[in-house]
Amino acid sequence: MAKLILNRLSKSFETGGRPAVNDVSLTVREGGFLALLGPSGCGKTTVLRMIAGFEQPTDGSILLGERVLADASEMVAPEHRNMAMVFQSYALWPHMSVAENVGYPLKVRGISGEKRQRKVRESLAAVRLESYADRRPADLSGGQRQRVALARCLVTEPDVVLLDEPLANLDRHLRQEMEETFREFHARSGATMIYVTHDQAEAMALATDVAVMSEGRLLQVATPEEIYARPEGRLVGGLVGQGVILSLPSPHDDNRLLDWAAFQAMLARSGNGPTADVLVRPQDVEVAPEGLPANVLSVLFEGERYALRLALPDGQALRAFSRQPVKVGDQLSVVINSAWRL
Ligand code: ATP
Repeated sequence: MAKLILNRLSKSFETGGRPAVNDVSLTVREGGFLALLGPSGCGKTTVLRMIAGFEQPTDGSILLGERVLADASEMVAPEHRNMAMVFQSYALWPHMSVAENVGYPLKVRGISGEKRQRKVRESLAAVRLESYADRRPADLSGGQRQRVALARCLVTEPDVVLLDEPLANLDRHLRQEMEETFREFHARSGATMIYVTHDQAEAMALATDVAVMSEGRLLQVATPEEIYARPEGRLVGGLVGQGVILSLPSPHDDNRLLDWAAFQAMLARSGNGPTADVLVRPQDVEVAPEGLPANVLSVLFEGERYALRLALPDGQALRAFSRQPVKVGDQLSVVINSAWRL
């Protein structure tokens, strides 16, 4: 196995139109788990399809280690890339049993007999479906079908596994369970995985690295912890975590992590100078006896806490959590313990 390199990768579907993928460079380390995150239409699937070999780049190149898989003039066929792709729709054969579905890619490769049976058994064990080998896909739940699709992908021992929103069709409970299966699958197979999603929580929970895209461009690549703590720019800041972005008078220093004192110093500056975007997450907003006045706009009971939408005196919105019951229209005061200048 080797690292997967995207080198200044671009794709335009129409000449002269806006490129679907625009000058994307990134390296997915061997055995890494990269989430490609971004809003609908940002080009995630197009990147994945170019890696799989279903689309040819209009510019740039894709390499697996030293080997060039594709550039604008050449392309290795999908079946010669040793990659496997799992889709949102499971694409299982309805007339075949679970074991036959999982064994199908081996059959195509001419692997038969005990060897095929053993590999099928191992793959089904990896997704905990050993006892479902003889069932038809129609007799399985959505989560189980997605597991069969994963097992089918594991059976060929691919170098790279490409996943296109594989959990989008599942309910919330099942998604959590499947996230666990994906993590286990990644640990066991050692494959390099690339996972397309528009769900930031899913991306953060699963991946070792997150790449955020917007309008065909790559905005930031970093570990989930880094993206969460130090997002670059409004778009990444708005996408990751449940924060709000405030526009505040810009200070002269270039301190980016702001404590309450630094935050107050920004507020105290006169209003006509340049402004800065400041990301504030709800868990960093504390209801306190003294602080910024805030009017409660909405209250959502979440079981263990209340999620509040607040308005600051200048009308900008803020989100906060409270353990105590609060009513719409209440006047609170809040302290911002930590904020991040974007
Ligand atoms: P979603 O999450 O909605 O699937 P995405 O981020 O995966 O979105 P892509 O499917 O990669 O986005 O699409 C990126 C852009 O390229 C979109 O503007 C889309 O309309 C365009 N596009 C994708 N495939 C084609 C195609 N075959 N022909 C023309 N335009 C295309």
